Amino acid sequence: MIKRRKSVAVRVGNVWIGGEHPILVQSMTNTDTADAEATAIQVAQLARAGSEIVRITVNNHEAAAKVPEIVARLEEVGLDVPLVGDFHYNGHILLREFPKTAELLAKYRINPGNVGVGQRHDSNFATMIEVAKTFDKPVRIGVNWGSLDQALLAKMMDANVLQAEPKPGLEVMIEAMIASALESAYYAEELGLGHDKIILSAKVSSAPELWRVYRLLAAQCDYALHLGLTEAGMGDKGVIASSVGLSTLLGEGIGDTIRVSITPEPGAPRKREVEVAQQILQSMNLRQFLPQVTACPGCGRTTSTLFQEMAQSIQNHIRDTMPQWKTLYPGVENMQVAVMGCIVNGPGESKHANIGISLPGTGEDPRAPVYQDGKLLTTLKGVGTIVPEFIRLLERYVEMTYGQTLEG
Ligand code: SF4
Repeated sequence: MIKRRKSVAVRVGNVWIGGEHPILVQSMTNTDTADAEATAIQVAQLARAGSEIVRITVNNHEAAAKVPEIVARLEEVGLDVPLVGDFHYNGHILLREFPKTAELLAKYRINPGNVGVGQRHDSNFATMIEVAKTFDKPVRIGVNWGSLDQALLAKMMDANVLQAEPKPGLEVMIEAMIASALESAYYAEELGLGHDKIILSAKVSSAPELWRVYRLLAAQCDYALHLGLTEAGMGDKGVIASSVGLSTLLGEGIGDTIRVSITPEPGAPRKREVEVAQQILQSMNLRQFLPQVTACPGCGRTTSTLFQEMAQSIQNHIRDTMPQWKTLYPGVENMQVAVMGCIVNGPGESKHANIGISLPGTGEDPRAPVYQDGKLLTTLKGVGTIVPEFIRLLERYVEMTYGQTLEG
């Protein structure tokens, strides 16, 4: 059982981040926000995939002007997922000039490294905090080492070289990130923003440095923390780096909401980042989003493509049907399904699952024993019919086990 770090709960639209609330999955669009239709479609895709908060960039007047239309389009299709506005450089101008947008966004992301320099830094930051107060909105003070407050970093580097034993530059940079996040949060509170209106993040692109930053940050405050490995990359590298980076911290109880910043393959759906984030939380037993499928890796005993195709069909069916199951069958996300390649480990693994099948291995009869709640239910026969038959049994099990009894 993972003991979560104590943090202050922050309300973001219709959800909560931090405190005792479940760790939330977030995502971010990559459409031009000024294209309200494309952005609303992508937000809807991300929300339907399970993103509990979606961030959109608000980078210019055109984008800021379209936020009300995006919200209206989402309402039309019955979605009220909280939208976060991502502001850099000109957030103080956009939030003031577009009050309807400021009112409709559920949270503002402010990067203290990108709000101007010197006195303008403080007054621009203060303007955004004033708008947040006016509309009773939380903010995420999101520091990123690619856009760290250069004045603060230079000051800390200068102070470091005067020390008898200067620290390595990387260590000073990490300290500067934490200082930027915390000093900005304290300043926001001085300006009158509530302690429970602030979420912090401090993202870097290497897992060991992420651990260092967040461990220090977590030890120094009780603000809710948004975790993410920034610019994690593409393909396996992005997925693995994010999983390693986030799961280590989550395992230490650090993190109240996560975002997986993977670069989609060309043409791949944006929702992949949501699926990866969900899988990280689910693999750690921190959240349950959909039935867990235990599948063996296959080996020389499997007729490889047949087993792979069967296993994939069953897994896809579960993922595709989950949106309907979720509304009809509360608790179905806790179901365990085993899809095994042969009878060596198949029956044993199937008995541990709620329902499981051992597919026929190479040279074995096309027979597939199915176990339900630890007992042999039936043995399916015939290569072409095993999968549809198993899916029928799976559907029946879900209905029987998770269907709500009608009362009176
Ligand atoms: S269950 Fe059978 S097919 Fe799967 S890895 Fe084990 S021996 Fe190989």
